[in-house]
Amino acid sequence: MATRVIPPRILRNLRYNTATKPLNSGHPSLSPAAALSPPSLLDQKPPSSSVLPPAADLSALNFHDVEKLFSYIPTSKLVRSSAVLHATGIEPMVDLGMWVMRSKLMEMEGLRDVINAAIRGTFYDQFCAGEDAVTAGKSIGSLNNAGLRGMLVYGVEDAHDNEGCDRNQKGFLHTVDVSRSLPPSSVSFVIVKITAICPMRLLERMSDLLRWQQKDPSFNLPWKNDSFPIFSESSPLYHTRKRPEPLTAEEESDLELANQRLLELCQKCVQANIPLLVDAEHTEVQPAIDYFTYSSAIMHNKDGNPIVFGTMQTYLKDAKERLVLAAKAADKMGIPMGFKLVRGAYMSMERRVASSLGYASPIHNTIRDTHKCFNDCSNFMLEKIANGPGGVVLATHNIESGKLAAAKAHELGIGRVNHKLEFAQLYGMSEALSFGLSNAGFQVSKYMPFGPVETVMPYLLRRAEENRGMLAASGFDRKLMRQELGRRLKAAIF
Ligand SMILES: Cc1cc2nc3c(=O)[nH]c(=O)nc-3n(C[C@H](O)[C@H](O)[C@H](O)COP(=O)(O)OP(=O)(O)OC[C@H]3O[C@@H](n4cnc5c(N)ncnc54)[C@H](O)[C@@H]3O)c2cc1C
Repeated sequence: MATRVIPPRILRNLRYNTATKPLNSGHPSLSPAAALSPPSLLDQKPPSSSVLPPAADLSALNFHDVEKLFSYIPTSKLVRSSAVLHATGIEPMVDLGMWVMRSKLMEMEGLRDVINAAIRGTFYDQFCAGEDAVTAGKSIGSLNNAGLRGMLVYGVEDAHDNEGCDRNQKGFLHTVDVSRSLPPSSVSFVIVKITAICPMRLLERMSDLLRWQQKDPSFNLPWKNDSFPIFSESSPLYHTRKRPEPLTAEEESDLELANQRLLELCQKCVQANIPLLVDAEHTEVQPAIDYFTYSSAIMHNKDGNPIVFGTMQTYLKDAKERLVLAAKAADKMGIPMGFKLVRGAYMSMERRVASSLGYASPIHNTIRDTHKCFNDCSNFMLEKIANGPGGVVLATHNIESGKLAAAKAHELGIGRVNHKLEFAQLYGMSEALSFGLSNAGFQVSKYMPFGPVETVMPYLLRRAEENRGMLAASGFDRKLMRQELGRRLKAAIF
Protein backbone atom coordinates (compact mmCIF):
# COMPACT_ATOMS: atom_id res chain seq x y z
CA MET A 1 0.00 0.00 0.00
CA ALA A 2 2.79 2.40 0.91
CA THR A 3 4.75 1.87 -2.28
CA ARG A 4 1.95 3.45 -4.24
CA VAL A 5 2.66 6.68 -2.34
CA ILE A 6 6.39 6.52 -1.63
CA PRO A 7 8.84 5.25 -4.29
CA PRO A 8 10.92 2.22 -3.17
CA ARG A 9 14.21 4.13 -3.53
CA ILE A 10 13.09 6.72 -1.00
CA LEU A 11 11.74 4.01 1.29
CA ARG A 12 15.18 2.38 1.24
CA ASN A 13 16.85 5.67 2.11
CA LEU A 14 14.40 6.25 4.92
CA ARG A 15 15.61 3.12 6.70
CA TYR A 16 19.09 4.51 7.15
CA ASN A 17 18.06 8.02 8.04
CA THR A 18 16.43 6.77 11.20
CA ALA A 19 19.47 5.02 12.64
CA THR A 20 21.56 8.02 13.50
CA LYS A 21 20.20 8.78 16.94
CA PRO A 22 22.14 8.34 20.17
CA LEU A 23 21.38 5.29 22.27
CA ASN A 24 18.81 5.27 24.99
CA SER A 25 20.41 4.14 28.21
CA GLY A 26 17.17 2.94 29.75
CA HIS A 27 17.06 -0.34 27.91
CA PRO A 28 18.00 -3.82 28.96
CA SER A 29 21.06 -5.36 27.40
CA LEU A 30 21.01 -6.87 23.95
CA SER A 31 19.95 -10.46 24.18
CA PRO A 32 21.59 -13.36 22.38
CA ALA A 33 18.23 -14.17 20.82
CA ALA A 34 18.01 -10.67 19.46
CA ALA A 35 21.46 -11.03 17.98
CA LEU A 36 20.30 -14.15 16.17
CA SER A 37 17.14 -12.58 14.78
CA PRO A 38 17.03 -11.74 11.11
CA PRO A 39 16.64 -8.03 10.37
CA SER A 40 12.92 -7.61 10.84
CA LEU A 41 10.50 -5.77 13.06
CA LEU A 42 12.32 -3.44 15.39
CA ASP A 43 15.93 -4.30 14.89
CA GLN A 44 17.37 -1.46 12.88
CA LYS A 45 19.43 -0.10 15.82
CA PRO A 46 22.82 -0.80 17.30
CA PRO A 47 22.96 -2.65 20.66
CA SER A 48 21.61 -0.74 23.63
CA SER A 49 23.52 -0.13 26.84
CA SER A 50 23.22 -2.64 29.64
CA VAL A 51 23.10 0.07 32.30
CA LEU A 52 19.65 0.50 33.79
CA PRO A 53 18.63 3.89 35.12
CA PRO A 54 18.30 4.00 38.92
CA ALA A 55 14.88 5.63 38.76
CA ALA A 56 12.39 6.79 36.21
CA ASP A 57 13.06 10.03 34.33
CA LEU A 58 9.68 11.62 33.75
CA SER A 59 11.03 14.30 31.44
CA ALA A 60 11.62 11.51 28.90
CA LEU A 61 7.89 10.68 28.92
CA ASN A 62 6.78 13.03 26.20
CA PHE A 63 5.06 12.41 22.94
CA HIS A 64 6.41 15.41 21.03
CA ASP A 65 9.71 13.89 20.01
CA VAL A 66 8.36 11.42 17.46
CA GLU A 67 11.85 10.71 16.14
CA LYS A 68 12.88 9.38 19.55
CA LEU A 69 9.57 7.59 20.17
CA PHE A 70 9.70 5.57 16.96
CA SER A 71 13.45 5.33 16.61
CA TYR A 72 13.40 1.54 16.95
CA ILE A 73 10.76 1.01 14.31
CA PRO A 74 11.94 0.64 10.72
CA THR A 75 10.03 2.63 8.13
CA SER A 76 8.51 -0.42 6.46
CA LYS A 77 6.93 -1.46 9.75
CA LEU A 78 5.81 2.06 10.52
CA VAL A 79 4.04 2.23 7.16
CA ARG A 80 2.37 -1.14 7.72
CA SER A 81 1.33 -0.30 11.29
CA SER A 82 -0.11 2.99 10.21
CA ALA A 83 -2.12 1.33 7.42
CA VAL A 84 -3.35 -1.61 9.51
CA LEU A 85 -4.31 0.57 12.47
CA HIS A 86 -6.09 2.91 10.08
CA ALA A 87 -8.07 -0.03 8.66
CA THR A 88 -8.95 -1.46 12.09
CA GLY A 89 -10.09 2.00 13.17
CA ILE A 90 -12.83 1.91 10.52
CA GLU A 91 -15.73 -0.13 11.89
CA PRO A 92 -17.10 -1.32 8.51
CA MET A 93 -13.61 -2.66 7.70
CA VAL A 94 -13.61 -4.70 10.93
CA ASP A 95 -17.11 -5.95 10.09
CA LEU A 96 -15.99 -6.93 6.59
CA GLY A 97 -12.92 -8.76 7.96
CA MET A 98 -15.06 -10.69 10.42
CA TRP A 99 -17.62 -11.54 7.78
CA VAL A 100 -14.93 -12.88 5.41
CA MET A 101 -13.27 -14.97 8.14
CA ARG A 102 -16.58 -16.55 9.14
CA SER A 103 -17.99 -16.94 5.64
CA LYS A 104 -18.08 -19.95 3.34
CA LEU A 105 -15.21 -18.32 1.41
CA MET A 106 -12.89 -19.82 4.03
CA GLU A 107 -14.07 -23.31 3.05
CA MET A 108 -12.81 -22.92 -0.54
CA GLU A 109 -9.28 -24.27 -0.53
CA GLY A 110 -7.48 -21.96 -2.98
CA LEU A 111 -9.33 -18.88 -1.80
CA ARG A 112 -8.71 -19.71 1.85
CA ASP A 113 -4.96 -19.80 1.20
CA VAL A 114 -5.09 -16.42 -0.54
CA ILE A 115 -7.10 -14.88 2.33
CA ASN A 116 -4.81 -16.41 4.96
CA ALA A 117 -1.74 -15.09 3.12
CA ALA A 118 -3.25 -11.60 2.98
CA ILE A 119 -4.11 -11.75 6.68
CA ARG A 120 -0.66 -13.08 7.58
CA GLY A 121 1.12 -10.16 5.89
CA THR A 122 -1.08 -7.51 7.48
CA PHE A 123 -3.24 -8.01 10.58
CA TYR A 124 -1.54 -11.17 11.80
CA ASP A 125 1.98 -9.73 11.56
CA GLN A 126 0.78 -6.52 13.19
CA PHE A 127 -0.86 -8.11 16.24
CA CYS A 128 0.81 -11.56 16.61
CA ALA A 129 4.26 -12.69 17.64
CA GLY A 130 4.48 -15.55 15.14
CA GLU A 131 3.11 -18.92 14.11
CA ASP A 132 5.40 -21.03 16.25
CA ALA A 133 7.71 -20.83 19.22
CA VAL A 134 10.81 -20.08 17.14
CA THR A 135 9.25 -17.09 15.38
CA ALA A 136 7.68 -15.86 18.61
CA GLY A 137 11.14 -16.07 20.21
CA LYS A 138 12.58 -13.95 17.41
CA SER A 139 9.82 -11.35 17.81
CA ILE A 140 10.59 -11.19 21.52
CA GLY A 141 14.29 -10.83 20.74
CA SER A 142 13.60 -7.86 18.48
CA LEU A 143 11.32 -6.34 21.08
CA ASN A 144 13.90 -6.85 23.79
CA ASN A 145 16.51 -5.22 21.62
CA ALA A 146 14.25 -2.17 21.52
CA GLY A 147 13.98 -2.08 25.32
CA LEU A 148 10.60 -3.79 25.73
CA ARG A 149 9.65 -7.24 27.00
CA GLY A 150 7.05 -9.77 25.98
CA MET A 151 4.08 -11.45 27.65
CA LEU A 152 3.52 -14.62 25.70
CA VAL A 153 -0.08 -15.60 25.06
CA TYR A 154 -0.87 -18.91 23.45
CA GLY A 155 -3.91 -17.85 21.41
CA VAL A 156 -6.67 -20.37 22.07
CA GLU A 157 -10.41 -20.28 22.45
CA ASP A 158 -12.58 -21.41 25.39
CA ALA A 159 -12.70 -25.15 26.07
CA HIS A 160 -15.91 -27.07 26.50
CA ASP A 161 -14.60 -30.51 27.45
CA ASN A 162 -11.56 -32.16 29.01
CA GLU A 163 -10.14 -33.04 25.62
CA GLY A 164 -10.05 -29.38 24.60
CA CYS A 165 -8.62 -28.41 28.00
CA ASP A 166 -5.80 -30.96 27.66
CA ARG A 167 -4.99 -29.71 24.18
CA ASN A 168 -4.84 -26.11 25.39
CA GLN A 169 -2.83 -27.11 28.45
CA LYS A 170 -0.10 -28.52 26.20
CA GLY A 171 0.03 -25.13 24.46
CA PHE A 172 0.36 -23.24 27.76
CA LEU A 173 3.06 -25.61 29.09
CA HIS A 174 4.91 -25.22 25.80
CA THR A 175 4.70 -21.44 26.21
CA VAL A 176 6.52 -21.67 29.55
CA ASP A 177 9.21 -23.83 27.88
CA VAL A 178 9.62 -21.29 25.09
CA SER A 179 9.82 -18.42 27.59
CA ARG A 180 12.38 -20.29 29.61
CA SER A 181 14.55 -20.86 26.56
CA LEU A 182 14.70 -17.11 25.83
CA PRO A 183 17.17 -14.72 27.49
CA PRO A 184 16.25 -14.00 31.12
CA SER A 185 13.87 -11.07 31.57
CA SER A 186 12.92 -10.85 27.90
CA VAL A 187 9.63 -12.51 28.81
CA SER A 188 7.94 -10.81 31.76
CA PHE A 189 4.88 -13.07 32.11
CA VAL A 190 3.19 -16.11 30.67
CA ILE A 191 -0.55 -15.64 30.21
CA VAL A 192 -3.24 -18.21 30.93
CA LYS A 193 -6.95 -18.15 30.26
CA ILE A 194 -8.72 -20.34 32.82
CA THR A 195 -11.60 -20.75 30.33
CA ALA A 196 -9.15 -22.70 28.15
CA ILE A 197 -8.14 -25.22 30.82
CA CYS A 198 -11.42 -25.71 32.71
CA PRO A 199 -14.64 -26.48 30.80
CA MET A 200 -16.87 -23.39 30.49
CA ARG A 201 -19.95 -25.14 31.88
CA LEU A 202 -18.04 -26.07 35.04
CA LEU A 203 -16.84 -22.47 35.47
CA GLU A 204 -20.46 -21.31 35.23
CA ARG A 205 -21.56 -23.88 37.82
CA MET A 206 -18.73 -23.01 40.23
CA SER A 207 -19.48 -19.30 39.84
CA ASP A 208 -23.14 -19.95 40.65
CA LEU A 209 -22.17 -21.90 43.76
CA LEU A 210 -19.69 -19.22 44.89
CA ARG A 211 -22.32 -16.51 44.39
CA TRP A 212 -24.84 -18.49 46.39
CA GLN A 213 -22.35 -18.91 49.21
CA GLN A 214 -21.90 -15.12 49.18
CA LYS A 215 -25.67 -14.79 49.62
CA ASP A 216 -25.79 -17.53 52.27
CA PRO A 217 -22.47 -18.03 54.11
CA SER A 218 -23.74 -21.29 55.67
CA PHE A 219 -23.93 -22.83 52.18
CA ASN A 220 -21.21 -25.48 52.18
CA LEU A 221 -18.82 -25.97 49.25
CA PRO A 222 -16.79 -29.10 50.06
CA TRP A 223 -14.48 -28.64 47.06
CA LYS A 224 -13.44 -25.11 48.02
CA ASN A 225 -9.84 -24.48 49.08
CA ASP A 226 -8.49 -21.39 50.83
CA SER A 227 -9.08 -18.23 48.82
CA PHE A 228 -9.16 -14.45 49.21
CA PRO A 229 -12.58 -12.78 49.14
CA ILE A 230 -14.05 -12.97 45.65
CA PHE A 231 -17.00 -10.61 46.15
CA SER A 232 -17.57 -7.36 47.98
CA GLU A 233 -20.76 -6.20 49.71
CA SER A 234 -21.84 -4.41 46.55
CA SER A 235 -21.02 -7.17 44.06
CA PRO A 236 -24.00 -8.01 41.87
CA LEU A 237 -25.14 -11.62 42.25
CA TYR A 238 -27.95 -11.55 39.70
CA HIS A 239 -26.61 -14.36 37.52
CA THR A 240 -27.67 -16.84 40.20
CA ARG A 241 -31.42 -16.65 40.79
CA LYS A 242 -32.00 -19.89 42.71
CA ARG A 243 -30.04 -22.16 45.00
CA PRO A 244 -27.76 -24.23 42.74
CA GLU A 245 -27.39 -28.00 43.05
CA PRO A 246 -24.03 -29.16 44.47
CA LEU A 247 -21.39 -30.32 41.99
CA THR A 248 -22.05 -33.83 40.69
CA ALA A 249 -19.39 -36.55 41.05
CA GLU A 250 -18.50 -36.02 37.38
CA GLU A 251 -18.18 -32.26 37.86
CA GLU A 252 -16.00 -32.79 40.93
CA SER A 253 -13.76 -35.05 38.90
CA ASP A 254 -13.55 -32.41 36.11
CA LEU A 255 -12.70 -29.84 38.76
CA GLU A 256 -9.92 -32.06 40.04
CA LEU A 257 -8.52 -32.28 36.50
CA ALA A 258 -8.67 -28.48 36.11
CA ASN A 259 -6.92 -28.06 39.48
CA GLN A 260 -4.19 -30.42 38.32
CA ARG A 261 -3.70 -28.53 35.05
CA LEU A 262 -3.32 -25.23 36.88
CA LEU A 263 -1.05 -26.80 39.48
CA GLU A 264 1.23 -28.20 36.78
CA LEU A 265 1.35 -24.84 35.03
CA CYS A 266 2.11 -22.97 38.28
CA GLN A 267 4.85 -25.42 39.23
CA LYS A 268 6.46 -24.98 35.82
CA CYS A 269 6.32 -21.19 36.23
CA VAL A 270 7.86 -21.45 39.71
CA GLN A 271 10.72 -23.54 38.29
CA ALA A 272 11.26 -21.05 35.47
CA ASN A 273 10.70 -18.08 37.83
CA ILE A 274 8.33 -16.55 35.28
CA PRO A 275 5.07 -15.27 36.77
CA LEU A 276 1.75 -16.55 35.47
CA LEU A 277 -0.81 -13.89 34.65
CA VAL A 278 -4.44 -15.02 34.71
CA ASP A 279 -6.68 -13.12 32.26
CA ALA A 280 -10.10 -11.87 33.37
CA GLU A 281 -13.23 -12.65 31.39
CA HIS A 282 -16.95 -11.93 31.69
CA THR A 283 -18.71 -11.83 35.06
CA GLU A 284 -20.72 -14.99 34.48
CA VAL A 285 -17.54 -17.05 34.98
CA GLN A 286 -15.20 -14.54 36.67
CA PRO A 287 -15.93 -15.65 40.27
CA ALA A 288 -14.61 -19.14 39.44
CA ILE A 289 -11.59 -17.63 37.66
CA ASP A 290 -10.83 -15.48 40.73
CA TYR A 291 -11.23 -18.55 42.93
CA PHE A 292 -8.68 -20.54 40.87
CA THR A 293 -6.34 -17.53 40.86
CA TYR A 294 -6.49 -16.81 44.57
CA SER A 295 -6.25 -20.42 45.71
CA SER A 296 -3.21 -20.93 43.43
CA ALA A 297 -1.61 -17.70 44.67
CA ILE A 298 -1.96 -18.91 48.25
CA MET A 299 -0.12 -22.09 47.25
CA HIS A 300 2.65 -20.61 45.08
CA ASN A 301 3.29 -16.95 45.96
CA LYS A 302 6.03 -17.24 48.53
CA ASP A 303 9.13 -15.48 49.87
CA GLY A 304 8.04 -12.08 48.61
CA ASN A 305 7.78 -13.40 45.04
CA PRO A 306 4.33 -13.19 43.43
CA ILE A 307 4.14 -15.99 40.85
CA VAL A 308 0.39 -16.00 40.25
CA PHE A 309 -1.16 -12.66 39.23
CA GLY A 310 -4.92 -12.05 38.92
CA THR A 311 -6.69 -9.46 36.78
CA MET A 312 -9.08 -6.77 38.00
CA GLN A 313 -11.44 -5.15 35.47
CA THR A 314 -11.88 -1.59 36.60
CA TYR A 315 -14.93 -0.91 34.41
CA LEU A 316 -16.85 -2.91 37.03
CA LYS A 317 -18.48 -0.83 39.74
CA ASP A 318 -17.28 -3.15 42.51
CA ALA A 319 -13.67 -3.42 41.24
CA LYS A 320 -11.98 -1.14 43.77
CA GLU A 321 -13.76 -2.75 46.73
CA ARG A 322 -12.85 -6.25 45.57
CA LEU A 323 -9.26 -5.26 44.92
CA VAL A 324 -8.88 -3.79 48.40
CA LEU A 325 -10.53 -6.82 50.05
CA ALA A 326 -8.37 -9.34 48.20
CA ALA A 327 -5.17 -7.33 48.76
CA LYS A 328 -5.89 -6.97 52.48
CA ALA A 329 -6.65 -10.68 52.86
CA ALA A 330 -3.38 -11.50 51.05
CA ASP A 331 -1.47 -9.19 53.41
CA LYS A 332 -3.08 -10.80 56.43
CA MET A 333 -2.05 -14.25 55.22
CA GLY A 334 1.46 -13.05 54.33
CA ILE A 335 0.96 -13.82 50.62
CA PRO A 336 2.65 -11.45 48.12
CA MET A 337 -0.14 -10.87 45.59
CA GLY A 338 0.06 -9.46 42.10
CA PHE A 339 -2.71 -7.88 40.04
CA LYS A 340 -3.02 -6.79 36.46
CA LEU A 341 -5.34 -3.79 36.14
CA VAL A 342 -7.36 -3.40 32.96
CA ARG A 343 -10.47 -1.44 32.08
CA GLY A 344 -12.22 -4.53 30.71
CA ALA A 345 -13.15 -5.94 27.34
CA TYR A 346 -16.66 -7.41 27.68
CA MET A 347 -18.70 -4.24 28.07
CA SER A 348 -21.45 -4.88 25.54
CA MET A 349 -21.85 -8.48 26.69
CA GLU A 350 -22.12 -7.44 30.37
CA ARG A 351 -24.72 -4.81 29.56
CA ARG A 352 -26.72 -7.22 27.41
CA VAL A 353 -26.78 -10.01 30.02
CA ALA A 354 -27.69 -7.67 32.91
CA SER A 355 -30.48 -6.07 30.93
CA SER A 356 -31.86 -9.45 29.79
CA LEU A 357 -32.13 -10.47 33.47
CA GLY A 358 -33.72 -7.13 34.40
CA TYR A 359 -30.76 -5.70 36.32
CA ALA A 360 -28.62 -2.59 36.06
CA SER A 361 -25.32 -3.00 34.23
CA PRO A 362 -22.34 -3.89 36.47
CA ILE A 363 -20.24 -1.47 34.38
CA HIS A 364 -19.65 2.10 35.55
CA ASN A 365 -22.33 4.45 34.26
CA THR A 366 -19.87 6.72 32.51
CA ILE A 367 -16.47 6.31 30.91
CA ARG A 368 -15.20 8.99 33.31
CA ASP A 369 -16.12 6.74 36.23
CA THR A 370 -14.19 3.90 34.60
CA HIS A 371 -11.14 6.13 34.10
CA LYS A 372 -11.35 7.25 37.74
CA CYS A 373 -11.67 3.67 38.96
CA PHE A 374 -8.65 2.55 36.91
CA ASN A 375 -6.55 5.45 38.22
CA ASP A 376 -7.71 4.92 41.83
CA CYS A 377 -6.92 1.20 41.69
CA SER A 378 -3.58 1.97 40.12
CA ASN A 379 -2.70 4.45 42.92
CA PHE A 380 -3.79 1.92 45.51
CA MET A 381 -1.58 -0.81 44.06
CA LEU A 382 1.41 1.50 43.53
CA GLU A 383 1.28 2.64 47.15
CA LYS A 384 0.95 -0.94 48.27
CA ILE A 385 3.92 -2.28 46.32
CA ALA A 386 6.06 0.74 47.21
CA ASN A 387 5.71 -0.17 50.87
CA GLY A 388 5.57 -3.94 50.76
CA PRO A 389 5.48 -7.12 48.71
CA GLY A 390 3.32 -7.75 45.66
CA GLY A 391 3.29 -6.55 42.09
CA VAL A 392 1.14 -4.70 39.61
CA VAL A 393 0.76 -4.76 35.85
CA LEU A 394 -0.86 -1.62 34.48
CA ALA A 395 -2.35 -2.88 31.22
CA THR A 396 -3.64 0.16 29.36
CA HIS A 397 -3.35 2.17 26.16
CA ASN A 398 -4.77 5.23 27.85
CA ILE A 399 -2.14 7.97 27.72
CA GLU A 400 -3.58 9.87 30.68
CA SER A 401 -3.61 6.77 32.91
CA GLY A 402 -0.07 5.96 31.77
CA LYS A 403 1.19 9.45 32.63
CA LEU A 404 -0.60 9.54 36.00
CA ALA A 405 0.76 6.16 37.02
CA ALA A 406 4.26 7.06 35.85
CA ALA A 407 4.17 10.25 37.94
CA LYS A 408 2.89 8.34 40.97
CA ALA A 409 5.52 5.60 40.61
CA HIS A 410 8.19 8.28 40.25
CA GLU A 411 6.94 10.07 43.37
CA LEU A 412 7.00 6.78 45.29
CA GLY A 413 10.47 5.90 43.97
CA ILE A 414 9.38 2.64 42.34
CA GLY A 415 12.13 1.64 39.93
CA ARG A 416 12.83 -1.25 37.62
CA VAL A 417 12.45 -4.18 39.98
CA ASN A 418 11.38 -7.42 38.38
CA HIS A 419 7.73 -8.47 38.99
CA LYS A 420 6.97 -5.17 40.82
CA LEU A 421 5.65 -2.68 38.29
CA GLU A 422 5.12 -3.47 34.65
CA PHE A 423 3.26 -1.37 32.10
CA ALA A 424 1.68 -3.39 29.29
CA GLN A 425 0.09 -2.80 25.91
CA LEU A 426 -1.14 -5.17 23.22
CA TYR A 427 1.46 -6.10 20.60
CA GLY A 428 0.98 -3.83 17.62
CA MET A 429 -0.92 -1.19 19.60
CA SER A 430 0.09 2.01 21.38
CA GLU A 431 3.74 2.03 20.36
CA ALA A 432 4.02 5.68 21.43
CA LEU A 433 2.95 4.93 25.00
CA SER A 434 5.12 1.79 25.20
CA PHE A 435 8.27 3.53 23.98
CA GLY A 436 7.49 6.72 25.89
CA LEU A 437 7.27 4.81 29.18
CA SER A 438 10.29 2.71 28.33
CA ASN A 439 12.33 5.81 27.44
CA ALA A 440 11.32 7.24 30.81
CA GLY A 441 12.88 4.18 32.48
CA PHE A 442 9.88 1.97 33.23
CA GLN A 443 9.51 -1.73 32.48
CA VAL A 444 7.11 -2.17 29.60
CA SER A 445 5.77 -5.36 28.07
CA LYS A 446 3.80 -6.19 24.99
CA TYR A 447 1.00 -8.75 25.23
CA MET A 448 1.90 -11.11 22.38
CA PRO A 449 -0.46 -13.80 21.09
CA PHE A 450 1.21 -16.53 19.08
CA GLY A 451 0.15 -19.67 17.21
CA PRO A 452 -0.89 -20.75 13.71
CA VAL A 453 -2.94 -18.21 11.73
CA GLU A 454 -6.01 -20.50 11.66
CA THR A 455 -5.91 -20.96 15.47
CA VAL A 456 -5.08 -17.41 16.46
CA MET A 457 -7.35 -15.52 14.04
CA PRO A 458 -10.64 -16.58 15.72
CA TYR A 459 -9.10 -15.50 19.03
CA LEU A 460 -8.03 -12.17 17.55
CA LEU A 461 -11.39 -11.62 15.89
CA ARG A 462 -13.16 -12.12 19.19
CA ARG A 463 -10.84 -9.59 20.80
CA ALA A 464 -11.37 -7.16 17.92
CA GLU A 465 -15.12 -7.52 18.31
CA GLU A 466 -14.92 -6.85 22.04
CA ASN A 467 -12.46 -4.00 21.64
CA ARG A 468 -13.96 -1.96 18.81
CA GLY A 469 -13.77 1.21 20.88
CA MET A 470 -10.10 0.62 21.56
CA LEU A 471 -9.26 -0.08 17.90
CA ALA A 472 -11.11 3.06 16.84
CA ALA A 473 -9.19 4.99 19.49
CA SER A 474 -5.78 4.27 17.96
CA GLY A 475 -6.00 7.74 16.35
CA PHE A 476 -3.37 9.29 18.61
CA ASP A 477 -0.81 6.65 17.71
CA ARG A 478 -1.63 6.95 14.00
CA LYS A 479 -1.21 10.72 14.15
CA LEU A 480 2.24 10.40 15.72
CA MET A 481 3.22 7.70 13.22
CA ARG A 482 2.18 9.94 10.32
CA GLN A 483 4.29 12.77 11.78
CA GLU A 484 7.31 10.49 12.00
CA LEU A 485 6.79 9.12 8.49
CA GLY A 486 6.60 12.68 7.20
CA ARG A 487 9.81 13.55 9.03
CA ARG A 488 11.63 10.54 7.57
CA LEU A 489 10.34 11.30 4.11
CA LYS A 490 11.65 14.87 4.35
CA ALA A 491 14.99 13.65 5.68
CA ALA A 492 15.28 11.18 2.77
CA ILE A 493 14.50 13.77 0.13
CA PHE A 494 16.45 16.78 1.42
C1 LIG B 1 -1.83 -6.11 28.18
C2 LIG B 1 -3.33 -6.13 28.19
C3 LIG B 1 -4.00 -7.19 28.77
C4 LIG B 1 -5.40 -7.21 28.82
N1 LIG B 1 -6.04 -8.22 29.45
C5 LIG B 1 -7.39 -8.18 29.60
C6 LIG B 1 -8.07 -9.14 30.37
O1 LIG B 1 -7.47 -10.05 30.94
N2 LIG B 1 -9.41 -9.04 30.48
C7 LIG B 1 -10.13 -8.01 29.90
O2 LIG B 1 -11.35 -7.96 30.06
N3 LIG B 1 -9.50 -7.09 29.15
C8 LIG B 1 -8.16 -7.14 28.99
N4 LIG B 1 -7.53 -6.18 28.25
C9 LIG B 1 -8.32 -5.20 27.45
C10 LIG B 1 -8.68 -4.00 28.31
O3 LIG B 1 -9.58 -4.42 29.28
C11 LIG B 1 -9.35 -2.89 27.50
O4 LIG B 1 -10.43 -3.38 26.76
C12 LIG B 1 -8.46 -2.16 26.56
O5 LIG B 1 -7.13 -2.16 26.94
C13 LIG B 1 -8.95 -0.70 26.44
O6 LIG B 1 -8.78 -0.01 27.66
P1 LIG B 1 -7.59 1.00 27.94
O7 LIG B 1 -7.20 0.97 29.35
O8 LIG B 1 -6.54 0.72 26.97
O9 LIG B 1 -8.26 2.43 27.83
P2 LIG B 1 -8.84 3.33 26.72
O10 LIG B 1 -8.04 3.31 25.48
O11 LIG B 1 -9.10 4.62 27.38
O12 LIG B 1 -10.19 2.61 26.37
C14 LIG B 1 -11.31 2.79 27.07
C15 LIG B 1 -12.38 1.87 26.53
O13 LIG B 1 -13.12 1.48 27.64
C16 LIG B 1 -14.46 1.28 27.25
N5 LIG B 1 -15.25 1.65 28.44
C17 LIG B 1 -14.95 1.21 29.69
N6 LIG B 1 -15.85 1.64 30.58
C18 LIG B 1 -16.76 2.36 29.90
C19 LIG B 1 -17.92 3.05 30.31
N7 LIG B 1 -18.34 3.08 31.56
N8 LIG B 1 -18.62 3.70 29.38
C20 LIG B 1 -18.21 3.68 28.09
N9 LIG B 1 -17.10 3.04 27.66
C21 LIG B 1 -16.37 2.37 28.54
C22 LIG B 1 -14.68 2.06 25.97
O14 LIG B 1 -15.10 1.14 25.00
C23 LIG B 1 -13.32 2.56 25.59
O15 LIG B 1 -12.99 2.17 24.28
C24 LIG B 1 -6.13 -6.14 28.22
C25 LIG B 1 -5.46 -5.08 27.63
C26 LIG B 1 -4.07 -5.05 27.62
C27 LIG B 1 -3.38 -3.88 27.02
